[in-house]
Amino acid sequence: MAQVFIGLGSNLSDPVRQLKRAIEHLKLLEKTSVVTCSSFYCSKPQGPQDQPDFVNAVCLLETLLSPECLLLALQEIERTQGRIKQRHWGERLIDLDILLFDDCVISLPHLTIPHSEIPHRDFVLIPLSEIAPDTVVPSMGTVTSLIAQLDNSYLYSIQS
Ligand code: AMP
Repeated sequence: MAQVFIGLGSNLSDPVRQLKRAIEHLKLLEKTSVVTCSSFYCSKPQGPQDQPDFVNAVCLLETLLSPECLLLALQEIERTQGRIKQRHWGERLIDLDILLFDDCVISLPHLTIPHSEIPHRDFVLIPLSEIAPDTVVPSMGTVTSLIAQLDNSYLYSIQS
């Protein structure tokens, strides 16, 4: 089984509900189980500022799916929940990213693993460190060192 970290984000239509729905969909994926999920975190948008704040989380999965099959499955969940693709780093009902897939390094036009934005996103690194503090991001370093080097701050509270 591969250990996979998924980043979840939403800022529309009751984001907490959207994240919970997405986690339920992840639990239904074939050959996959959800091991654990982080707390839900509130964050300021990374992109355009004229949009609602986000709720983010990270989940750890174990899966027998390939990275490409998992990407397709995540995109299907996004479609099911009604993804609105409007603008780069804009608002969304649900966004699901493959952050890490074991220690794989993949560089394809449609799939980059580790996810290239990991070092710049506290709303990914902090929830990731909550559930897996000893994680090493291939070719980037430890989660702890990446948190120490963060150049931006978006996250402002834990969702109760
Ligand atoms: P975004 O809307 O910013 O999440 O970007 C979605 C696009 O990123 C999709 O077309 C994916 O093919 C691509 N992509 C590249 N790497 C990844 C990844 N690690 N996880 C999810 N989507 C990815």
